[in-house]
Amino acid sequence: MSHLNAYSRSVMLIFCLLLMSPLVSASMAEHTQKLAEHVYSYGDPAAGYTSMFIVTADGVIVIEPVNSKHAKGLLKAIRSVSQQPIRYLLHSHNHWDHAGGGQVFRDEGATIIAHVEAYEWMQANPHKDMALPDESWSGNKKTIVLAGTRLELHYLGMNHGLGMTVFRLPKQKMVYIADIVTPERLLFTIVPDFNIKQWIRSLKDIEAMDFTTAIFSHGRAVGSKKDIRANREFIEDLRAAIHTEFKKGTPPFSIPDLVRLPKYQHWAMYDEWLSMNAWRLLLDDHMGPFPWRPAHAYEMKH
Ligand SMILES: [Zn+2]
Repeated sequence: MSHLNAYSRSVMLIFCLLLMSPLVSASMAEHTQKLAEHVYSYGDPAAGYTSMFIVTADGVIVIEPVNSKHAKGLLKAIRSVSQQPIRYLLHSHNHWDHAGGGQVFRDEGATIIAHVEAYEWMQANPHKDMALPDESWSGNKKTIVLAGTRLELHYLGMNHGLGMTVFRLPKQKMVYIADIVTPERLLFTIVPDFNIKQWIRSLKDIEAMDFTTAIFSHGRAVGSKKDIRANREFIEDLRAAIHTEFKKGTPPFSIPDLVRLPKYQHWAMYDEWLSMNAWRLLLDDHMGPFPWRPAHAYEMKH
C-alpha cells in the first residue's frame, strides 16, 4: 500500500512537472534568467555575450546590445516578460563587438546612451552594425531613475577601451561589468586595449563598491565580488611570476612560454592564452603602461 502511494506520488509529481515545464519555458524566452525582481540577464552561452535588462512601470532599461542578432534575441527575451516600451539602451564601452545592434532598440523608440569617450570613438570609427548613440554623458557618474528604479552609471577612468561604464543597481546590490572581469577565465588573448596599471586600480575601485551580485558580459553570467578580486589577483600573480623569472636570469623572450600558474590551471583558456597573457604583461613592464592618452587628445577635432 505504502509502495503504491509512493508510486502514485511519483507519477503525480512527474505529471505536475510535465504540465509546469512548458508553461515555464513559454513564459520566458530562451537564454533569459531572472536575477532579481524586475531584473533579468539574456545571453546565449554559445555566442559568449550576456546583456542585462531592467523592467519598470515606465519602461525598460537595456544594457549592452552586442550586435543585431544578439539584440533581436534580447528584445524577444524582454518581450517574453514585459510589453513596456524600451526607454533606454546603454552601452558599456566603445568596442564594435559590444556596441553593435543599437538600431534594433532605436526602432523600438529607445534613447541610446554612451559615455562621451565611447561616443566620440564610435563617431570616428563607424561600423555597419553600430548605431551612433543619441546622447553621451561625461564625468564619473550618472544616475538614471525610472519609475523609482535607480541605476548608476560609473566611469572609473582608463582601464579597457573607452568610456568603460560599470552599472550598479543600489537597491538590488547588483553590478553589470563588461570585459574588465570575466570569472574563472584567463585575460582575453593578447589583452587588447587594456592599460594594466589602471585596470588593477579600477578593479580595486569596483571591489570597494557596495554590491553582492555581479553580472558579467563574458563567461559565467552571475558571480560575486570574489570574482573581481580573483581576476585582479591573477594579473598580480602572473606579473609576480614574470618578475621571478627575470630575477633568475631567464632570457626575457623565453619567459612567456616558461611561466606557469598552477593555482589557475582550472580556469578557462589556461593552456590556450597563458603565454599570450604573459607576453602582454612582459611588454607592459618593458615599455611602461599603454595605451594611454593625454587629456588634450580628446579635444582634437579632425
Ligand atoms: Zn572591449
